[in-house]
Amino acid sequence: LLSKRLQAVASMVDPKTRLADIGSDHAYLPVDLISKDIIDFAIAGEVAPGPMSRSQADITKFGYDEKIKVRLGDGLAVIKAEDDIQTVVIAGMGGILISDILSRATKEQLSNVKTLILQPNIGEPLVRQWLVKNSFEIIDEDIVEEDNHVYEIIKASFTTNKVELSESEYLMGPILIQRHSAVFIDKWAHKLNSYQKAVANMKNAKSIDEAKITQMNDYIKYIEEIL
Ligand code: SAM
Repeated sequence: LLSKRLQAVASMVDPKTRLADIGSDHAYLPVDLISKDIIDFAIAGEVAPGPMSRSQADITKFGYDEKIKVRLGDGLAVIKAEDDIQTVVIAGMGGILISDILSRATKEQLSNVKTLILQPNIGEPLVRQWLVKNSFEIIDEDIVEEDNHVYEIIKASFTTNKVELSESEYLMGPILIQRHSAVFIDKWAHKLNSYQKAVANMKNAKSIDEAKITQMNDYIKYIEEIL
């Protein structure tokens, strides 16, 4: 059974798509999607050899050797043109690492990729910036709370249209803003409160960091515009 976070990622996967799960660790996501017949082919890519041998053993045990290819490698280097991968999932890492992995992908590795499903643990705005810069339009988002942590999931699709986001949308997510769910409101009410406290503390500090205060005040403004 998948965690609530991985379940939210799985729900964004289009049926029958050819998927690469990068940083798959135990390969829970591909195993779940194949066992439910949602997809027929997946690559489980992992840079660390440890989890790979365990995933491979599980995949063989379930009889999924033809449907899930476990490959050791850095980022999208595990994808070959003939795999015809259409969807790339990168979940459970920081936004900096996710953007870095995507930036290092070659044209060939991304050639058939129409859809990205990304779940940064932190640094969501960086991921949205990468998407906009690289002509991916955000088509779905979700926000879930599990074990006192709030996770955001971003689904994006390649587009030839110009994509633009406002500062609030980079920070909080264009679709999450529209949906305004209880988890979303709670997350940003807490953040707003902590930024306001931080600004008050910084103003009382011995050496005042004006740049930091300006940045915090910008965040406060973007959040207040939305909440
Ligand atoms: N995707 C799974 C999930 O969401 O539950 C596992 C997340 S786990 C915290 C992050 C995984 O990414 C680790 O297994 C790590 O080895 C792998 N990883 C980190 N950098 C990577 C890279 N450049 N290429 C492939 N995998 C990477």
